[in-house]
Amino acid sequence: MKPASFEYVTANSVAEATQILANANGDGKIIAGGQSLIPVLALRMSRPAVLVDINRVPGLSAITPLDGQTVRLGALVRHSRLIEQPHHGLLAEAARWIGHTAIRSRGTSGGSIAHADPSAELPIVAAAVDATIHVAGPSGVRQQSAQEFFTGALETTLAEDEMIIAVDMPIPDRWGFAELSRRHGDFGLVTVAAAEIRGSWRVCVGGVGSVPYRSAEAEELLNNSGSNALTQAAAVIAAGINPSDDIHGSAEYRRAMTEEFTRRALLQATAGNEKGMT
Ligand SMILES: Cc1cc2nc3c(=O)[nH]c(=O)nc-3n(C[C@H](O)[C@H](O)[C@H](O)COP(=O)(O)OP(=O)(O)OC[C@H]3O[C@@H](n4cnc5c(N)ncnc54)[C@H](O)[C@@H]3O)c2cc1C
Repeated sequence: MKPASFEYVTANSVAEATQILANANGDGKIIAGGQSLIPVLALRMSRPAVLVDINRVPGLSAITPLDGQTVRLGALVRHSRLIEQPHHGLLAEAARWIGHTAIRSRGTSGGSIAHADPSAELPIVAAAVDATIHVAGPSGVRQQSAQEFFTGALETTLAEDEMIIAVDMPIPDRWGFAELSRRHGDFGLVTVAAAEIRGSWRVCVGGVGSVPYRSAEAEELLNNSGSNALTQAAAVIAAGINPSDDIHGSAEYRRAMTEEFTRRALLQATAGNEKGMT
């Protein structure tokens, strides 16, 4: 199938992009890398009247280390550049698992976060490190934590006239990443990001619910007992998820894999994957 017809507009600034969205009255969509949107349009699962291309908006493509503790990603940073950057090892590793070369060359950080696929690597890392998302709208810029930003499968708090301009990703002191997928490049069946940031543990699992999953109980166990609590934390996380059966595996299989891949990510983290090291 081919997309339904739409008006294509190129924005030259963030203000222009959000104004076009506002004028479209809910019938406009941003296009960044197009790696998720174009298939959705081609299948006619969405029929926006206006597509706003933000690829020419200046200032959205930088990877900026802020203070040695956080990296700011402009919304147009391509996945392939995340692999090459030396500041944030967890991001670099996670980006390697995104799709194939062509997808990583075009797909953007802002697009992946906005699309909010529950199995996508960047939303999982964002939720794991307590990222801050910068969102611009006609009335200015607001900030929101990643945990609050994702509200459901493919759902976020983005209003119809808002766009992501940047994501601040805190840099873990230690991290681990483990993904189970049928073939390299497929979306993960279970994806786990573990991070220790300034003495505080976070573990986030994707692919097992509508939004990236974190367990306060498991993180408290790790904060109190470190690597001694690793197996127990993995069991607590597996018990806390609510996966469903699908063509790729049963809920029971996903729960078992969640426990195993959480254990692997935590083992990696406690064994010493540090900061920019990948
Ligand atoms: C075959 C295939 C395999 C893939 N495998 C994976 C995978 O394993 N892991 C993974 O994470 N992803 C995967 N992807 C998706 C890919 O990573 C996308 O690039 C990414 O999800 C969306 O980024 P994009 O820049 O292409 O966004 P687009 O496709 O341009 O847009 C996606 C959505 O986000 C909105 N949007 C885009 N940018 C912004 C912004 N700045 N502010 C607000 N809204 C915005 C659009 O309006 C649209 O609704 C795959 C895609 C394909 C086609």
